[in-house]
Amino acid sequence: MRILVTGGAGFLGSHLCDRLLKDGNDVICLDNFFTGRKSNIAHLHGRSDFELVRHDVIDPFKFEVDQIYNLACPASPPHYQYNAIKTVKTSVMGAINCLGLAKRTHARVFQASTSEVYGDPALHPQPESYWGNVNPIGIRSCYDEGKRVAETLFMDYHRQNQVDIRIVRIFNTYGPRMHPNDGRVVSNFIVQALRGEDITIYGDGLQTRSFCYVDDLIEGFVRLMNQTAVTGPINIGNPGEFTMLQLAELTLKLTGSKSKIVHRPLPGDDPKQRCPDITLAQKHLNNWAPTVALEEGLARTIAYFRTQV
Ligand code: NAD
Ligand code: UDP
Repeated sequence: MRILVTGGAGFLGSHLCDRLLKDGNDVICLDNFFTGRKSNIAHLHGRSDFELVRHDVIDPFKFEVDQIYNLACPASPPHYQYNAIKTVKTSVMGAINCLGLAKRTHARVFQASTSEVYGDPALHPQPESYWGNVNPIGIRSCYDEGKRVAETLFMDYHRQNQVDIRIVRIFNTYGPRMHPNDGRVVSNFIVQALRGEDITIYGDGLQTRSFCYVDDLIEGFVRLMNQTAVTGPINIGNPGEFTMLQLAELTLKLTGSKSKIVHRPLPGDDPKQRCPDITLAQKHLNNWAPTVALEEGLARTIAYFRTQV
């Protein structure tokens, strides 16, 4: 198949490009390089089955493709808050442009949504049926509400125009090729530990997240895209739940770093807990389940960052 990956030069997008090429597809990677890097896809340069296009998803684009994966959007809070209006435009207009292309070409189109659609969840763990607890006017809203509108658009194009859609709700995913300055917790802690800098825990560190290793997530993506039983939304993530304090301690242990843990103010609207209910993924995606435990995935990610910092 010929497959378009928007945001293909980013952390997840570059791993997805690798996987789709390995499976024998032709890949078009579209990116504006806001948070993505040419180095993430440099090893693909020159291949006849890979094309790189510098383009912004808020402007329309045309390609003859069989499948579209829409990943273009900054994912780290400091990056999506840097230009909040642009983040909303990227989510909403990027979705409309992907859906318009899918409608015209009859391509199947996949939306990278997020556990942030659940906001600061009052139900724990979060099943797909939960409508969420989202602040519409806070500092995370540009991302959360942008992604919620994108889901709405996907469902409306599906109902109104029979567009063949898939929606995944991604829970915190980490691994090699995260940017050292990404700002998300796993890369921050590893980079700080390797540099001997203080480990910055925001708030008391008792808030929880569930961390999925990138290879497990990409396997879930491909299974969701290539089955025909469900459109989603479907949660993909690792249900192992950790406090940020536990993550900091594990990072210190695995790096052997002597960095000190320090506390910094908690950013606004920071969710207190997050953990995926993956019953639907297991049921519909051929018993999909994460295979890489946090300690193993962190060790692999630390090995990558040792080559970067
Ligand atoms: P990332 O920041 O590494 O990748 C995003 C990519 O999109 C980058 O290459 C960036 O340059 C590109 N991009 C941003 N705005 C664009 C625009 N207007 N036009 C074209 N390209 C643009 O982040 P990531 O972790 O790889 O996230 C990829 C997708 O997965 C995002 O949509 C994100 O919301 C979603 N997601 C990721 C996670 C996670 O834990 N990694 C969790 C939930 C959702
Ligand atoms: N966090 C932290 N120190 C950091 C970066 C993040 O304690 O240096 C916390 C953050 O406040 C949040 C959790 O780690 O509670 C996960 O943050 P991240 O930005 O990775 O993702 P998200 O909040 O979107 O899940």
